[in-house]
Amino acid sequence: MITLLPEKCIACSLCVKACLFSGIRLDGKIPVLTEYCTGCGACVEVCRVGAIVSEGKPAPPPDLGSYRDIWVIAEQQDTIVHPVTFELLGKARELAQTRACRVAAVLAGSGMGAISQALIQGGADVVYLADAPFLYPYRTRPHERTIAALIEQHKPEIVLIGATCMGRDLAPRLANRFKTGLTADCTGLVIDSQDGCLLQTRPAFGGNIMATIVTAHHRPQMATVRPGVMQAFQDEGRTGTVVTVETVADAADDCVQVLKTIAKPGSGVQLEKAPVIVSGGRGLQGPDNFKLLGELAELLSGQVGASRAAVELGWIEHPHQVGQTGKTVKPRLYIACGISGAIQHLAGMQQADVIVAINRDPYAPILKIAHFALIGDVQKIVPELIAQLKAQH
Ligand SMILES: Cc1cc2nc3c(=O)[nH]c(=O)nc-3n(C[C@H](O)[C@H](O)[C@H](O)COP(=O)(O)OP(=O)(O)OC[C@H]3O[C@@H](n4cnc5c(N)ncnc54)[C@H](O)[C@@H]3O)c2cc1C
Repeated sequence: MITLLPEKCIACSLCVKACLFSGIRLDGKIPVLTEYCTGCGACVEVCRVGAIVSEGKPAPPPDLGSYRDIWVIAEQQDTIVHPVTFELLGKARELAQTRACRVAAVLAGSGMGAISQALIQGGADVVYLADAPFLYPYRTRPHERTIAALIEQHKPEIVLIGATCMGRDLAPRLANRFKTGLTADCTGLVIDSQDGCLLQTRPAFGGNIMATIVTAHHRPQMATVRPGVMQAFQDEGRTGTVVTVETVADAADDCVQVLKTIAKPGSGVQLEKAPVIVSGGRGLQGPDNFKLLGELAELLSGQVGASRAAVELGWIEHPHQVGQTGKTVKPRLYIACGISGAIQHLAGMQQADVIVAINRDPYAPILKIAHFALIGDVQKIVPELIAQLKAQH
C-alpha cells in the first residue's frame, strides 16, 4: 500500500513520470494517488525526498466463497454478436454444470436489446444489459468502468472474454482493477474437481509446452480465449432473465473519441468461419502463387490462409495468418501448401476435420497430423487440383 507524505513533496514530478499506470498525479503541488494505482512501488523508488512510502503489505485476499457464477463479456458490432461470444457461452455452460452455478452475459453498447435473447439461446441464464449511447462504439474507459462496477456488485467467480482486439484491450484493465490473474489465449478451461478452481491451459515457451495456470487466491478468475477454440451451444427453447443496468456517462471518458472507423485491408477475411481453408507457406516461393491458392479456395468455396513465414515475407496480409499468433481455425477441410508444420502453426489448425498436406519433403512435420499427403512440388500439384476441379464443375 502506497502512502503519500505531501509535506515532504517538492513537486519534482519524478513519481508521475515513473508510473506506468497513471496511478499518481500532481494536483497543483500536492501528489495524489488515482484509482489506477497498482501499489507497484515504482514511485517510491524514484522519490528522492521520502515523500512516498510503501507499507509493502499486499491487499488481503478476497473472501473467495462470496464469488459465484460464470460471466462472459459479450462483444458485438452494429448489433452483430462476435462468434467468440457464443463459443465462450458454450464453454461457460459446461463449466457451470460442474460448479452448479449460473451463466451470465454482459452486453455493453447501444441499441442492442434484441441481442439479449440470442445470448440466452446461446447459453446465458442472465444478461446484464448496459445500453447507452456513450457505450458505442467501443472505448476502453467507459466499458471498463461499466463492467467493473457490475463485477464489483455481483462478484462473479469466473469472467471469460474473447481474445479479440476489444477483449485484449479490456481484459487486462479489468484484471488490474481487481488485482486478479488473467490467462490470455487459453486453449483449455476445466474446473479442478478438488478445489473448484478454474484450470486455464495455454501454450507457453513459444508453444513448446502447455501450461496450466490457476488463480488460486484472487477473484474473479479471468481468461481470454481466441475465436474458434471453443464450441458454441444453441438451444432455441432456453429462457433467461435480462437485467437492465443503470449506466452513467463520465466526462473523463471523452478524453478518447472515435472520429472515424477505417477497415484494415484484409479485415474482411473470416477464416474462423470458413468451411475450407487453403493455406500457403514459405514453400510457395513467392507472392504470385497465392493467386493459385485463391483460385483453388474459390473452387472449394473456401478462403486463403497462410503461415507466419509467408506473412513475414510480405506475400499476404496478417489477417490470413493461422497459428499461435494468428487465427485459430476449425474448418472441415484444411489444405496446407508448402507449410512445414511448426508447432506454432499446428496450434491454430490441428482441429480441422480433414487435413491435406502438399509438401515436397516426405518427412515434413505436418505429415504427422495430416490425413492425406500429396508429396511433390506445390506449383505442380495445385494447378493439377484446379484443373481437375474445373473439369468436374
Ligand atoms: C512465438 C512464435 C509464434 C509463432 N506463431 C506462428 C503462427 O501463428 N503461425 C505460423 O504459421 N507460424 C508461427 N510461428 C513461426 C513458426 O515457428 C514457423 O517458423 C513457421 O510456421 C514456418 O512457416 P512455413 O511452414 O511456411 O515455412 P518453413 O518452415 O520454411 O516450411 C516450408 C515448407 O515448404 C516445403 N516446400 C518448399 N518448397 C516446396 C515446394 N516447391 N513444393 C512443396 N513444398 C515445398 C518445405 O519442405 C517445408 O516443409 C511462430 C513462431 C514463434 C517463435
